[in-house]
Amino acid sequence: MAVNGNRRVAVIGGGMVGMCTAIWLQRDGNSVCVVEPGHVGEGASFGNAGCFNGSSVTPTSMPGTIRNVPRWLQDPLGPLSLRWSYLPSILPYLARFARAGTADKVHRQAKALRPLLAPTVPLVRELARDAGAEALIHQRGHLYVYRSAASLAKDGLAWALRRENGVEVDEFDTDELRQLEPVLSREYVRGLLVRENGHTSNPHALVLRLAEHFVRQGGAITRACATGFRLDGERLAAIRTDTGEIAADAAVLCAGAHSRPLAAELGDRLPLETERGYHLMIRDPEAIPRIPTADADGKFVATPMDTGLRFAGTVELAGLTAAPDWRRARMLLAQGRQMLPGLAADYEEERLSLWMGHRPSMPDSLPALGRSRATPDVIYAFGHGHVGMTAAPMTGKVVADLVARRPASIDIAPFDPARFA
Ligand SMILES: Cc1cc2nc3c(=O)[nH]c(=O)nc-3n(C[C@H](O)[C@H](O)[C@H](O)COP(=O)(O)OP(=O)(O)OC[C@H]3O[C@@H](n4cnc5c(N)ncnc54)[C@H](O)[C@@H]3O)c2cc1C
Repeated sequence: MAVNGNRRVAVIGGGMVGMCTAIWLQRDGNSVCVVEPGHVGEGASFGNAGCFNGSSVTPTSMPGTIRNVPRWLQDPLGPLSLRWSYLPSILPYLARFARAGTADKVHRQAKALRPLLAPTVPLVRELARDAGAEALIHQRGHLYVYRSAASLAKDGLAWALRRENGVEVDEFDTDELRQLEPVLSREYVRGLLVRENGHTSNPHALVLRLAEHFVRQGGAITRACATGFRLDGERLAAIRTDTGEIAADAAVLCAGAHSRPLAAELGDRLPLETERGYHLMIRDPEAIPRIPTADADGKFVATPMDTGLRFAGTVELAGLTAAPDWRRARMLLAQGRQMLPGLAADYEEERLSLWMGHRPSMPDSLPALGRSRATPDVIYAFGHGHVGMTAAPMTGKVVADLVARRPASIDIAPFDPARFA
């Protein structure tokens, strides 16, 4: 085995988490190989809303969330849909999800997430600067808009969690909102702006630029699908792939929503699920907000991107293999028009693009970040759910700490992969 930080490390998965991790490991002097069966950055990291929201400490399962589920499922424009044939498969996850959303647990989850998310803008800016991609990073804040005082009141606990974790918020009434973002519908009566948040104007380009930088610095990207691990006692000898073995002293599992079977290979049965999400993009839109804006009732985000306006959101529970239901993406246009009335009534198909991706989600909204049970040489870094772009820079730093056997930069005890055992 190699010594003194110069270890051979295999990073499984070339998404935002994988590329940030690979770069941190490379900075430590390790010899790093990213293993990716498709193209780098074309998983969930491709088409997300691009927001680096250090303030997103609110878990998806909150007290009362599960009670809203029947209402959401009945609403064709609702934020949640379920393929009924998938219900038996996802029931155990949903049971854990419901159990995770108690008042005391969500306070603990938010507190655990804050150090993972809060440093994102300076960290991602540093990574992007080295990669010559700083122009893709912006810090204009994130705006949450509400149509009524009642709907803002419903989010009271979410805002309390953010504030108790040090998030500063500026509030705007209708007239002030109009000045801040003139393109927004006048139906919004309240806006809450979190200035610390940032975004990327092209998530896919950002991952590609990080990958190019990694390769320029001597890193390798191998086109292969990881299938397992070969251990020599408690030590890792190699990772197995569909094109043969890759000798490695350490491996990082960051295959996003596809990580579950590989962790199971090592005896770790983790409740990872895909929360499928969609985007719809309009090229050359007639109206576009300057600040990424979340419609708090519709639970979607409008982000200004280099290539147009992106509406992203919705959750669909249907597993990894079912075909996309493009109605879920198209409904974002109907909702987006209500947010931005200046948009046209109709669009030619060539001005629109649609996408579906798999959020890698855990029922308690905390990632699996730590060592596998079978060997200290395999580290898990997956399950970042709705906040994987934001969490990736610090996740990579923590993984590099673990490989170097330094104390982790933040407290990772709440992310212990064994917490569900
Ligand atoms: C609609 C939507 C909007 C979102 N908005 C935001 C947002 O604004 N901010 C935010 O922080 N997060 C957001 N997210 C979440 C975010 O996109 C994800 O959490 C994040 O991209 C996950 O990154 P990842 O690297 O773990 O996974 P991925 O990007 O999915 O990468 C995993 C990679 O692993 C590869 N892989 C799979 N199997 C194997 C194997 N066997 N061997 C090797 N490689 C393998 C895949 O090909 C893929 O390239 C959003 C998600 C969606 C769907």
